Amino acid sequence: MTATACTACGGTRLLPFYRVEAIPVHSCLLVDTREAALAFPKRDLELAFCEDCGFIFNRLFDPTVLDYSPDYEETQGFSPRFRRFLETLCDELAERHDLRGKTVLEIGCGKGEFLVALCERAGCRGIGIDPAYRPERTASPAMDRLTFIRDLYGTDYLHLAADADHVCCRHTLEHIPDVSGFLGLVRRGIGERRGVSLFFELPDMERILVEQAFWDIYYEHCNYFTAGSLASAFRRAGFRVTRQWKAYDGQYLMLEAEPAAASFGSSGDVARTREQVARFTAGIAARLAQLRGEAEAWRRAGKTVALWGSGSKAVGYLTTLGLEDEVAAVVDINPFKRGKHLAGTGHAIVGPDDLSGLRPDVVVVMNPIYVEEIAAELRRRGLAPEVTALT
Ligand SMILES: [Zn+2]
Repeated sequence: MTATACTACGGTRLLPFYRVEAIPVHSCLLVDTREAALAFPKRDLELAFCEDCGFIFNRLFDPTVLDYSPDYEETQGFSPRFRRFLETLCDELAERHDLRGKTVLEIGCGKGEFLVALCERAGCRGIGIDPAYRPERTASPAMDRLTFIRDLYGTDYLHLAADADHVCCRHTLEHIPDVSGFLGLVRRGIGERRGVSLFFELPDMERILVEQAFWDIYYEHCNYFTAGSLASAFRRAGFRVTRQWKAYDGQYLMLEAEPAAASFGSSGDVARTREQVARFTAGIAARLAQLRGEAEAWRRAGKTVALWGSGSKAVGYLTTLGLEDEVAAVVDINPFKRGKHLAGTGHAIVGPDDLSGLRPDVVVVMNPIYVEEIAAELRRRGLAPEVTALT
């Protein structure tokens, strides 16, 4: 099943440029045993660049193989660095959109940590919708202002957008195969009301291309936006983009919008993205060979290697490079992940305290933004491995 039209603009001038075979369809789903993790469903990915709007997507994507059940464990909320980022973002949004006393709808709220923080800090009401929501994880003094629905957002929930003053959607649009259909649904829900604001946050593809950060390309993400292709998708769906910026060391793309009439036109960065795609294509094989060589050298030297961070980046890094026993374990500070296994590769997930037994020689940090935090965790346990980050 190969898509022949762009899922954002409908254009048919598609340029396929990057292919990875047999990668696990989920990277954040917890798997209980190594056997089940190794037997996890796998599919191929092929990124295509749309010459018309600059959007990039997996044209082999099959949404029917995905299951966002409550076992889906996406939270980064156990990191102090990430908590600070969320709280600062909440305060900025609350002030800019004057959210006190208002109603905020979050589509794809995960475990609800952002919405809870926003309601607590901004004094607003919150409605969150996500199939992976877990009620037992939420404890908040703002609970009487919070409602959660464990489901996917769809036509049954148009009334939620109709009642909201602010709609936010973080790290969700990149999972939704029908981009224009989804944005159209949000727009329909808001209708003709004025004064409604939107905030969207998702990974920035420009950085992935420029840095050849292939570990950020994985099956769950069918969509890869640059600032320009994201703005175009919103304009076509009937929104006016009011603000765009990058955050979290340039890893995330942030967009604010308000309802308007639909408008068309190219995104402005299509030519630049085309060049970045060409450079990525030219350099990626050497990049993969270099990192495989590095892992092979660790193995030959008899070094014990641990990855720190068991999220999608770890799955992307291990499966794209085809690493197996080169890596002994994957560390995660999220206690809900300890004792589970990484989908596709079967690596065991351990907690930071387990490292005293493992005594790694090398710790590969999956997200460079956490290097200081992780170095401190290692020092506290009397460990001094070589620490290297994916950059
Ligand atoms: Zn397109």
